[in-house]
Amino acid sequence: MIKASAVNKYFGDLHVLREITLEVPRGQVVVVLGPSGSGKSTLCRAINRLEPINSGEIAVDGVPLPAEGKALAALRADVGMVFQSFNLFAHKTIVENVMLAPMKVRKTSQAEARKTAMELLERVGIANQADKYPAQLSGGQQQRVAIARALAMRPKVMLFDEPTSALDPEMVQEVLDVMTGLAKDGMTMLVVTHEMGFARRAADRVIFMADGEIVEDTTPESFFTAPKSERAKDFLGKIL
Ligand code: ADP
Ligand code: MG
Repeated sequence: MIKASAVNKYFGDLHVLREITLEVPRGQVVVVLGPSGSGKSTLCRAINRLEPINSGEIAVDGVPLPAEGKALAALRADVGMVFQSFNLFAHKTIVENVMLAPMKVRKTSQAEARKTAMELLERVGIANQADKYPAQLSGGQQQRVAIARALAMRPKVMLFDEPTSALDPEMVQEVLDVMTGLAKDGMTMLVVTHEMGFARRAADRVIFMADGEIVEDTTPESFFTAPKSERAKDFLGKIL
């Protein structure tokens, strides 16, 4: 579903993605772990072509990501993305936030977009807040809306970049529960997170990155109980 081959990315002299080769098959949940600055966000952004790469290839569902234009917009619509900051439109209601992209990008009718939006808000447990504005919701609720908004495009893959890092601790679980539900429903997911409980329970695979490289690519079980590299041992020693 996602296939990255020998991807390299530089910011000036800084080599932030080094020969990244990675496959996420349909229906798999891959959790990306690694210290701050290891290139996790850049990898997510590269997959979505929010960030151009210097060499290598990234394909989604067998189609290489084009550099620009209409084809890029279409492919990008297949990749849902949820960031640390939810970035909902402050002057639109919750349901309008979820309706917007399908109407604009997929040319879905208003009635159809509203119907789908309400179903998705139901799925993330906030249909009863549909007519409120983002500021009236808690951070956890806003992040669940952001997930519903991404799902409204009917993406083939969902990328999550530290979706719970900006949340108060008591709101983390409600967002992880929604993500776990998605995983159970068979969504293909690449998740950057520091939530080790989620990684252990929900991931099919763990990728550990350090200094722009994939250092380990293994099962959660083997990563947490028997990390091979010194860098992974060091990382786990600091966070567990
Ligand atoms: P992570 O998400 O793992 O913390 P990032 O992908 O955000 O790591 O960053 C990887 C490296 O690239 C870091 O050294 C960071 O400072 C650098 N970096 C990220 N974005 C930019 C940018 N737009 N310009 C220059 N350097 C950047
Ligand atoms: Mg990051």
